[in-house]
Amino acid sequence: MAHAAKVLLNVPDIKKDFPILHRKMRDKPLTYLDSTATAQKPQQVIDAVVDFYSRYNANVHRAIYELGEEATRAYEGARERIAEFIGAKDPMEIAFTKSTTESLNLVAYGYGLKSGRLKEGDEILGTVLEHHSNHVPWHFVRDLKGVTLKYVDVDDEGHLRMEQYDDLITKRTKIVTVAHVSNVLGTISDVKEIAKRAHEVGAVCVVDAAQSVPHMPVNVRALDCDFFAFSGHKMLGPTGIGVLYGKKEMLELTEPLLGGGEMISEVHLGSAKWNDVPYKFEGGTPNIAGVIGLGAAVDYLAKLGMPAVRQHEMELTAYALKELAAVEGLRTYGPKSVAERGGVVSFTMEKAHPHDIASILDVEGVCIRSGHHCAQPLMDRYDLAATARASFYVYNDVEDVDRLVAALQKVNEVFG
Ligand code: PMP
Repeated sequence: MAHAAKVLLNVPDIKKDFPILHRKMRDKPLTYLDSTATAQKPQQVIDAVVDFYSRYNANVHRAIYELGEEATRAYEGARERIAEFIGAKDPMEIAFTKSTTESLNLVAYGYGLKSGRLKEGDEILGTVLEHHSNHVPWHFVRDLKGVTLKYVDVDDEGHLRMEQYDDLITKRTKIVTVAHVSNVLGTISDVKEIAKRAHEVGAVCVVDAAQSVPHMPVNVRALDCDFFAFSGHKMLGPTGIGVLYGKKEMLELTEPLLGGGEMISEVHLGSAKWNDVPYKFEGGTPNIAGVIGLGAAVDYLAKLGMPAVRQHEMELTAYALKELAAVEGLRTYGPKSVAERGGVVSFTMEKAHPHDIASILDVEGVCIRSGHHCAQPLMDRYDLAATARASFYVYNDVEDVDRLVAALQKVNEVFG
């Protein structure tokens, strides 16, 4: 076993923070390689949620009593730390949703459909590598507004074909949307350049950041994107909490999805005025525990340091690509250079279907994903029905990769 990769993170110490990683699966160590689907949670995040429910559970923004004020301070404190984590100018540019999916739908409905900024004949430009959650909401806008959807292609290695933006962005383009990191190929998009191109024609740039925020330093001001969506559960936080960052002026233009308590400044019979940004997007009692847990996740990642997280994943991915290349009949997808990709590796094997690969790996305690990864247009582009996918995070090390490779050798033995 070659343990060549140098790591900046102290993975043995990090692993200690994740109780689930001490579990055995059929007497084998749990090798969790599906963080792209959802990340495991450190004790610090679990404790923050338990602490909220056991010590200061109360609704936010309502109560005059101390308990309610404590809950509100924790909720708004998390918003501040999340804003800082992604380089937002103002915590008021952070709206809480339940997921990336909800955040993207909020932009599609609230900006695309309801802001009055789009009309029939306008164009929305996406890419073929998007997750379904950055395809389907725009189908709704197309169906209801009569706009045209266009897509930038990828090359055979999985890079976006940037030259296509020259032709596909026109005076009619109103929204340009892209995944920051592909959940299948790992491709990192040049969001800064894409946002610049969008702005040249007065369009807004909407970024699906579900796979970038957890894994690399991001700065929304440097990227200059208008909307930026991500999920807590993929970045060590709880499920059911997501974020929509928007430039203040963009959030002002966006209409809310949910009408109800808290999202209003005043209500009369038959009419209402919205509360300020971002509260107009947070109708009803929010996921307070989720926000507090996400705040703890951000603290955890900030303490590790996002440059170190990124470096660690690059080294692990380079090691994995090298080791996987030695497995007979195995083919990997996505950019060859780890500088151009995140810590996710999709692959197929000559002799076994991805679902069979995942089932055999499961017997070895190795969790990977198989299927179309909610990116069917991308699968179509490469004429694939499915791939197997291993993905890495702060708690993975070269031994996890070695266990993956050993289990893949068993797949070849079984299907030999
Ligand atoms: N976009 C990308 C790139 C993703 O990987 C995912 C989750 N797999 C999503 C969007 C959707 O995230 P969620 O299910 O948390 O809404």
